[in-house]
Amino acid sequence: MNRSLRRPIIAGNWKMNKNPEETKQFIEAIKPKVEGANCEVVICAPYINIDAALRQAEGSNIKIGAENCHWEENGAFTGEISAKTLNDINVEYVILGHSERRLYFGETDVSVGQRVHTALHNNLKIILCVGEQLQGREHGITEEIVRIQLKEGLLNVPREFMKQIIIAYEPVWAIGTGKTATSNQAQEVCKMIRETIKELYDEDISNHIAILYGGSMNAKNADELLSMPDVDGGLIGGAALDPKSFAALVNIASNKF
Ligand code: PEP
Repeated sequence: MNRSLRRPIIAGNWKMNKNPEETKQFIEAIKPKVEGANCEVVICAPYINIDAALRQAEGSNIKIGAENCHWEENGAFTGEISAKTLNDINVEYVILGHSERRLYFGETDVSVGQRVHTALHNNLKIILCVGEQLQGREHGITEEIVRIQLKEGLLNVPREFMKQIIIAYEPVWAIGTGKTATSNQAQEVCKMIRETIKELYDEDISNHIAILYGGSMNAKNADELLSMPDVDGGLIGGAALDPKSFAALVNIASNKF
């Protein structure tokens, strides 16, 4: 398997943090530190900050993403934001199926799959999150859980859309807890994800798809995690809130690939 077929990605997930002014300051601070990076640099921000992020990132190599979108393009869905609107304002990426959306907002594999379709048809690149809870890992059913999330999330997605898909393996027990998966645990699941993509599509697609690890990744553990042959980058929560630590992660990834 040829790792050079894939573009590494460091994507920040800001969750419910920062305001537009802080967004501007963050992007201004990282611009000189990440320019010329040998990886895709993505900031996924709360909706209210996206306009500020897009303006500040203009002309740089920093791409902007949203943290979710609805499965319909418009309609009576108070408080929601559509993929069409995101595309209309030039947002490039969207995170879908994040474990916090599944845990706290009742999102299911089926509704995640519906969002995937709408986001694809609106030209967004999707960071599709999958991952087991602690109980699943302790019961030895990580593989079954992740395979189902993957199959449902990609249900009826035609092969020509797979260029817009990135998978993030995020063990729920490692998110925001400071407990990182070992590099071997991350590699084992990322490899299984790649094999599943091969089964669902073909070898070419599985060789080209970027698979990220997420879960307490930081500048201390990133080097080891990103050395794994099937880990093509990271989805970063806590360590993406500070410009220095986010830029450090981009630089680690840049030198790894
Ligand atoms: C995340 O929210 O996707 C994440 C990986 O968070 P953290 O890095 O804080 O564990």
